[in-house]
Amino acid sequence: MKQLTDPFNRNITYLRVSVTDHCNYRCHYCRDEDHVTDTTRNEILSYEELARIVRLFAELGITKVRLTGGEPLLRKDILKLATMLGEIPGIDDIPLSTNAHLLSPIANQLQKAGINRVNISIDSLNQDRFEQITRGGDLDKVIQGIDSAIESGMNPIKLNMVVMRGVNDDEIEAMIDFAIERKIDIRFIETMPIGAAGIDAVDHHYSEAEIVKRIRAHLPDRLITVKSKQTAGPAKSYLINNTETSVGTISAVSNNFCSSCNRVRLTAKGQLILCLGQENSISLRDAIRSNMNDNDIKTMIINAITHKPEKHEFDTNMNNINNVQMVEIGG
Ligand code: SAM
Repeated sequence: MKQLTDPFNRNITYLRVSVTDHCNYRCHYCRDEDHVTDTTRNEILSYEELARIVRLFAELGITKVRLTGGEPLLRKDILKLATMLGEIPGIDDIPLSTNAHLLSPIANQLQKAGINRVNISIDSLNQDRFEQITRGGDLDKVIQGIDSAIESGMNPIKLNMVVMRGVNDDEIEAMIDFAIERKIDIRFIETMPIGAAGIDAVDHHYSEAEIVKRIRAHLPDRLITVKSKQTAGPAKSYLINNTETSVGTISAVSNNFCSSCNRVRLTAKGQLILCLGQENSISLRDAIRSNMNDNDIKTMIINAITHKPEKHEFDTNMNNINNVQMVEIGG
């Protein structure tokens, strides 16, 4: 099996695919208030184009493909895509990132189609606050989505909460208890300065050290450090003694984890993004629509990987990536 290795000796085995840049939520740290998504059907990759790109990546050693967005469950026939990707030799893990608003009715079918695990974004357990953060979201629907995912047998299920000072930082403990009660995992994310919305949100930055202090105070002597496993990615995780829940942090700002980066991103419009915090990218959509053959596209991917930046600069230069909307990249 071929391997994609970048100039910093990192093996690239993980592709995050944004299947749509439309989202039914407008979380204020993710997109500008007046941001409009006007992408048309023809601008985004068809499922056939997407499956071809994923197959080429799989032939180059990618084993994990996450479906993200925008909101991936807004894309029509997402079950069909999950099935198509599951049939590609070499792809053995297809997790989903979702806000869960549309999850409840299709959780079972997604699980059967091979979506074996899911990350669900939830930033508050208070309906009014949830509505404010998401600019119109429906907390009840999200909780129904979480419960349906649990019933479907997806495992692990991870809740992702972006912690913001003065916005939702008083809910860290409640969110841990919510996860313990449901026997699922919870991760607390630092705001990242990506796009104007993300840069603004950094005013509410709540550091990993502060989060961990709060977790420890809430669960005295109950945290067991777990070694980062394949599914943990950049998260630092602890198992909570006497529960089936792990609690973790993802701290791109306090703790630059780029030396272990194993991923690249594909936008809905087919742009291959080499680093979440830098602008280097190439268009794979143009390549496949100009009738390039498989070998030439694979060569193009291998060449692109030689330009993967060493690291983001969130920790040293808050403003270097102000020209994007996270909703278009997929997190
Ligand atoms: N709609 C899906 C969801 O809600 O999970 C997938 C896309 S969303 C862009 C993926 C993740 O990015 C979410 O967990 C979201 O909280 C996170 N995210 C977006 N903007 C962020 C920012 N500025 N800082 C930290 N996390 C961010």
